[in-house]
Amino acid sequence: MTKLIFLGAPGAGKGTQAQILAENLGIPHISTGEILRNSIADGTPLGIKAKGYVDNGDLVPDELILDLIKERLGQEDAQKGWILDGFPRNVPQADFLTNLLQELHQICTGVINFDVPDDVLLKRLLARGRKDDNEEVITHRLEVYRQQTAPLIDYYEKHQLLKNVNGDRELSQISQELETIVKS
Ligand code: ADP
Repeated sequence: MTKLIFLGAPGAGKGTQAQILAENLGIPHISTGEILRNSIADGTPLGIKAKGYVDNGDLVPDELILDLIKERLGQEDAQKGWILDGFPRNVPQADFLTNLLQELHQICTGVINFDVPDDVLLKRLLARGRKDDNEEVITHRLEVYRQQTAPLIDYYEKHQLLKNVNGDRELSQISQELETIVKS
């Protein structure tokens, strides 16, 4: 049973790796960023509320994300495994998830932290060219990451779940390491 949280800065490559690994394992890849972008594109009530935050590179308010995660992890296909990508993103979200998993009788099997130097992150994000990938917004997202998300590295280290992975390598090398971690 693989139930993994992928942590890392914007541009660390967690989304790409989450997609590959989830497909190989036949489990859902749950990306809050993707859910939000789809909601914005579809103009749903969630999308309308989230748009300004996402465009500015701020975190959307927790209340927009927490119910969504609760609903998603309660679904049938999530019982046999999942990879969470982009959630949790701050300590209150992590506390919520810890309690939610207990309530759902699910166990997180590990937290993978993708380690990538800042200059590489910036280069990758500028090359990606998504709507929220202009230099000003990127700089802000990296700040938000340092302030709100990076403390989760310690958080999960204390929970003895953390595994660091060097994300500044070729895609296939990283995928291989992840496969090995999952099998161990
Ligand atoms: P990246 O990994 O490049 O930061 P994501 O796709 O994970 O991109 O997220 C894009 C945007 O979606 C974030 O900048 C933020 O506005 C919003 N977002 C995604 N996940 C969360 C979350 N768990 N809590 C709050 N906002 C989120």
